[in-house]
Amino acid sequence: MTFLKPWAVLWDMDGTLVDTAELHFDAWVRLCASLGRPFTRDDFKATFGRRNPEIFQYLFPAGMTEAEAARQGEIKETMYRAATRERGVELLPGARSLMAGLAQEGALQAIGSSAPRGNLELILELTGVGNLLGACVGMEDTRRGKPDPEVFLEGARRLGVEPAHCLVLEDAVAGIEAATAAGMRSIGVTFVAHHSEASLMAAGAAKVVGSLAEISARDVRHLIAG
Ligand SMILES: [Mg+2]
Repeated sequence: MTFLKPWAVLWDMDGTLVDTAELHFDAWVRLCASLGRPFTRDDFKATFGRRNPEIFQYLFPAGMTEAEAARQGEIKETMYRAATRERGVELLPGARSLMAGLAQEGALQAIGSSAPRGNLELILELTGVGNLLGACVGMEDTRRGKPDPEVFLEGARRLGVEPAHCLVLEDAVAGIEAATAAGMRSIGVTFVAHHSEASLMAAGAAKVVGSLAEISARDVRHLIAG
């Protein structure tokens, strides 16, 4: 089976391509301590995968100006990036070979993430897979975070691929919901175990796997064609 039209895979970053959760958690704990507020595991669970503007609204419901939230967000991201550079980061199992296989099969690929561009560029630099990507869409490129479909629709637009010919790889319910709302098929990955197989299926995933090593570029192509 061949495609006459271009097809694409849109990758979530945190929890799908790399596991940076603890680095983010540590940075939030330190930032919130400096602002006189604890940051708990429950706070993390409620906010992980969301854009900073929405996270600050959640953490400081009494109100923090947009400018102050942006300033504090940059402090948190600077701490996160310094720790990531120091400790290093590796692609999750199967990610590198799936990316290479997809490129070989002719898929276009992009990142569709809630993270700030600086974080995405750092991960791409440390993992060396940036050359396989045709676009990278992050926090600054969208106005509404997942589960809104904007991030994936923007990725498809930048690659020049119709949403119906895109597939999303995601670890989070909000991301699967975003893919579904964008009219894209999706595969859920439970490797980092933040979300259950049942919750990802309920959000609209076509398939859920334990790790990316369980799927091939051909599986992805067949799913889009089907
Ligand atoms: Mg994620």
